[in-house]
Amino acid sequence: MSKQLFSFEFFPPQTPEGVVKLAATRKQLGLFKPEFFSVTFGAGGSTQARTLETVQQIKAEGYNAAPHLSCVGSTRDNIRAMLNNYKDMGIKRIVALRGDLPSGMHSIGEFQYANELVSFIRAQTGEHFHIEVAAYPEVHPQARSAHDDIVNFKRKVSAGADSAITQYFYNADGYFRFVEACRKLGVTVPIVPGIMPIVKFAQLARFSDACGAEIPRWMRKTLESYGDDNESVQAFGLDVVTQLCERLLAGGAPGLHFYTLNQAAPSQAIWKRLGLPQ
Ligand SMILES: Cc1cc2nc3c(=O)[nH]c(=O)nc-3n(C[C@H](O)[C@H](O)[C@H](O)COP(=O)(O)OP(=O)(O)OC[C@H]3O[C@@H](n4cnc5c(N)ncnc54)[C@H](O)[C@@H]3O)c2cc1C
Repeated sequence: MSKQLFSFEFFPPQTPEGVVKLAATRKQLGLFKPEFFSVTFGAGGSTQARTLETVQQIKAEGYNAAPHLSCVGSTRDNIRAMLNNYKDMGIKRIVALRGDLPSGMHSIGEFQYANELVSFIRAQTGEHFHIEVAAYPEVHPQARSAHDDIVNFKRKVSAGADSAITQYFYNADGYFRFVEACRKLGVTVPIVPGIMPIVKFAQLARFSDACGAEIPRWMRKTLESYGDDNESVQAFGLDVVTQLCERLLAGGAPGLHFYTLNQAAPSQAIWKRLGLPQ
């Protein structure tokens, strides 16, 4: 079996306190020697400068940084400039996304879908970057059908993506079925599950409604029953997410990508429960 790859995702902090907190988070999670730390990017360029700053800090600390790059609302010139900048900085991995237009912004720009961004990156920079793309075991909310979504995912891989990270989910069977369907269509790249630790129920429910990640009814009902008792929410979340990760790894998932929300403790707790090397 090839080496399992672990990575952690951050968002670029908005305040000086957030920058300090994230540096401390990186220090703690860096002990696990992840493959890379990735940094999200606001579609429409809303976090462009802060994504770059965070990537520079990660790089300066000696970790591999993988900037996310979303193309909706952007131009070829703008994307080319960012790619060249990242290449000059020695960045080797990009998470290539379409993104979602922020409300109030109407111009799609020069790219419509992520496969066009992947093709553009390959045309501009050859094989320099390892390109990650997004995958949706529970189907992207705008997809016409589950099958169409897989065909669209395949289009990104055919355009040159090397591997994929999934939207988070709590249903391991859905992931395994998705991977199987991809393999049947000839998609062979690693598809790494995205893992969302459970910290606060209201926040998780909001995210899940927005991105189409299902919280199974039994989980939702249990989490609801805890009300404001965050300690119980987190203890339950740790059990459920650890078991999910165990099943995924035992079933052949090529690694795990943690959505950290810039906090170390929830991912650390899962890592330790899984007995992964420290
Ligand atoms: C790992 C991960 C990281 C993310 N990071 C960020 C981030 O940093 N910033 C951010 O803004 N968002 C981020 N997102 C969210 C993502 O931008 C949204 O889910 C967005 O709606 C879709 O992006 P995509 O790259 O998957 O788009 P696409 O692959 O382009 O797919 C978007 C939709 O269009 C459909 N589609 C694709 N190609 C075609 C085609 N040729 N014809 C018709 N339909 C098509 C697909 O089926 C899908 O429904 C992330 C998501 C994941 C899973």
